[in-house]
Amino acid sequence: MKFGTKAIHAGLHADEATGAIMTPIYQTSTYVQEAIGVNKGYAYSRTKNPTREALENNIAALENGKYGACFASGMAAIDCVLKILEPGDEVIASNDLYGGSYRLFKSVFEKYGIHFHFVNMTNPTELEIQVSEKTKLIYVETPTNPMMNIIDIAEISDIASRTDTLLCVDNTFATPYLQNPLDLGADIVMHSVTKYLGGHSDIILGALVTSNEEIASKIYHIQNSSGAITAPMDSFLALRGIKTLHLRMQRHCENGEKVAMFLADHPKVEKVYWPGLESHPNHDIALKQMRGFGGMISFSLVGNKLKDAQEIVSRVKIFALAESLGGVESLIGHPATMTHASIPREEREKTGILDSLIRLSVGVEDPDDLIDDLNQAFK
Ligand SMILES: *Cc1c(COP(=O)(O)O)cnc(C)c1O
Repeated sequence: MKFGTKAIHAGLHADEATGAIMTPIYQTSTYVQEAIGVNKGYAYSRTKNPTREALENNIAALENGKYGACFASGMAAIDCVLKILEPGDEVIASNDLYGGSYRLFKSVFEKYGIHFHFVNMTNPTELEIQVSEKTKLIYVETPTNPMMNIIDIAEISDIASRTDTLLCVDNTFATPYLQNPLDLGADIVMHSVTKYLGGHSDIILGALVTSNEEIASKIYHIQNSSGAITAPMDSFLALRGIKTLHLRMQRHCENGEKVAMFLADHPKVEKVYWPGLESHPNHDIALKQMRGFGGMISFSLVGNKLKDAQEIVSRVKIFALAESLGGVESLIGHPATMTHASIPREEREKTGILDSLIRLSVGVEDPDDLIDDLNQAFK
């Protein structure tokens, strides 16, 4: 089955009781059992719920994986991955991670004896130097936030399998429409479904997908034991969002390209970070592992003045100033003072997060209106 068909049909079936074409919201905590130990496959909704199960199967199919597990948030999904580890284990993660992942690693899991190293994974040699027999997990995000660096998943997965280490890829920015990490050798794919998969800025939800039965059974054990599961209503909304994922992503990519081209030609723009541009330092890797380049764009301004970035962000009318990304509406953000404010300036600037850096989540509005909006803000 091809992607667009899977987005709409995979893992789903008409409701057996009524024929309802849409998966019903099974808003129930428990299930009546026919006799002791005899039930219809569902005993308690923390363990298994039909609406959540449909979503889990659907997302697993989109990632070409066998097992899906959904969580109350993207962070709860990452939390589950780390709980597979034991005290003393080491994790090597890419150094420009989503801020919340960095916080979870350093402020929660480090105190349980798990050790974290952060390396620049665009240079796999740095990873190779850091890997030891204590390394149990390599954790990668690509494209990265907000610098849009592209990490070669196949190359990292090669190092992971040679050293018997799990590789988890946060595929939130690319979505399964553009990139399938399991096909490139990753063991676990993670999603903040909150973003593109949900697509309508109305839920917080996370997912993990794997094809490895042993890893899956650990994930399901933690999901049921810790209990950070997705609610039935949110599962329904995510399923509804995913039905148009391929249509939305196609438009996000088209609009992303138009806006990136406009910015690249603008005299007030210093640099544009969008993996579809030939000038992007990892454009060749993007071409190799992605089927398109998405709608996330960062850019810096000539002169690098905080004041100029603040002006632009305050003058746009269609782009809304907000955290998050991946919804149908366009958003604008200022990483240095918003998502990455907790990182010391020196560290921030080393990874390219300058005072004038602006991040766009280009939505699916008419691209002419988006470009006009940016144009009037620049003036
Ligand atoms: C938002 C985000 C997360 C966290 O997901 P939540 O659903 O907000 O908990 C993790 N990784 C990336 C890349 C994100 O953008």
